[in-house]
Amino acid sequence: MLIRTKIIATLGPASSDLETIGEMAEAGCDMFRVNFSHGHQQQRSELLANIRKVSQETGEPLGILADLCGPKIRVGEIDGGSVLLAQGQSVALQREEVLGQTDRISTTLGELVSEVRKGESLLLDDGKIKLNVAERLSDEEIICEVIRGGILASGKGVNLPHTDLTLSAITEKDRRDIEWIAKNDFDYVALSFVRSADDVNELRELLNEAGCDAHIVAKIEKPQALDNIESLVETADAIMVARGDLGVEMNLPAVPVAQKKVARLCQKAGKPCIIATQMLESMTSFPSPTRAEVSDVANAVLDHTDAVMLSGETAVGKFPVSSVRMMNEIVAEIQAYDDQTATPTKVQYAPDPTVAALASSVREIIAAEKISAVAVLTETGTTARMFAKNRLPLPILAISPNQQIVRRMCLYYGVQSLRAEIPEHTRGVLDIAARFACEKKIACKGDKMIVVSGRPLGKPGSTNTLVVHQIA
Ligand code: PEP
Repeated sequence: MLIRTKIIATLGPASSDLETIGEMAEAGCDMFRVNFSHGHQQQRSELLANIRKVSQETGEPLGILADLCGPKIRVGEIDGGSVLLAQGQSVALQREEVLGQTDRISTTLGELVSEVRKGESLLLDDGKIKLNVAERLSDEEIICEVIRGGILASGKGVNLPHTDLTLSAITEKDRRDIEWIAKNDFDYVALSFVRSADDVNELRELLNEAGCDAHIVAKIEKPQALDNIESLVETADAIMVARGDLGVEMNLPAVPVAQKKVARLCQKAGKPCIIATQMLESMTSFPSPTRAEVSDVANAVLDHTDAVMLSGETAVGKFPVSSVRMMNEIVAEIQAYDDQTATPTKVQYAPDPTVAALASSVREIIAAEKISAVAVLTETGTTARMFAKNRLPLPILAISPNQQIVRRMCLYYGVQSLRAEIPEHTRGVLDIAARFACEKKIACKGDKMIVVSGRPLGKPGSTNTLVVHQIA
């Protein structure tokens, strides 16, 4: 069975070698995430080389996503590694770096002291510890009351759910990383802690200046991003529901509703959606997931996401390959269920009326007769993305002359992509599509497939032709 929901695996110390990357690809991973919050450029160069080698050896395209660190704030160094902050006590937070004690700490973002207001909260260590700003002494120091206490260790994350930071979502480090990303041919760049479409536009400008046309993934992990979700979905090329930080910054029980809302908006706008974080978290330490985690992955598929993502499970976990395999198995099971139970919906998204009519026709044809696959000839990937967002219950074989577009389509639901030169005649498109379908064991001689292309061949935006082709 060809698995339609895509799997993204984060690379890290547990998964950076060629063999593990190869095994993860074999187990069903379609795209790798390189996390710029950790490691250095030499390590990242090695990761890229390994991914490309696997792709070259297997002949299968693999997408690569660069995930920018963004303004992730961390607690500064603590004397002895950790301190106990007791509920009800006061703790000073100062701009200048200090070796943290039980009554005084600093963070990696000194300026935050002048940005938070009295009454606002600071959540430390994924929200395990909560401080409220009790008093602003100056732009150099604030006094916080410990509302929820606990042991605070060096380097733990700091979230400011209610503070409207005036700082850019793109830090100086991100700018340096963007220059490197531009030189290293990434397919997607994810922007962390996005608040509005302006952040996405700023990143696009920086990428353009650096000569990079990687697509932008906006990570939804702040309440402000949810407030601006319509314009973010419109502006970004893809969306990630980054449930880790989102779950800290907003009311945790509301996260599943946010996930459903974002997935639905992406469906309508034709933008790929990624559901991320803690999907198989217990597999970081154990060989099998909890029942609840299995249900979570299943639910994400039923929410019509394009991709599900593994983070710590593959980056630092003990079972990176088994985690991908397990994800693949869950997704396959839900796909089989969905194929039996889902009712065809009206075309949700199409770039223009002609393509909308073609998509409707494809739906009608596959309801009426046995079709093995839909093949599309796509210059920019737009037609493939449109079919992906309309959740066709069969493989979409996307043929493009552009290798970068082929890799980009690794994120699209149901799409298997192939690089091929544009033939001179539609007959040539049918031949390539039939060969591709047979190679992938999706179809064989005598089977019918639908082939969608445009006339004149090779002109972007010209999709206007549908052929029901019987493989000779
Ligand atoms: C998240 O917070 O869910 C997320 C994907 O971001 P990161 O892993 O970079 O913290």
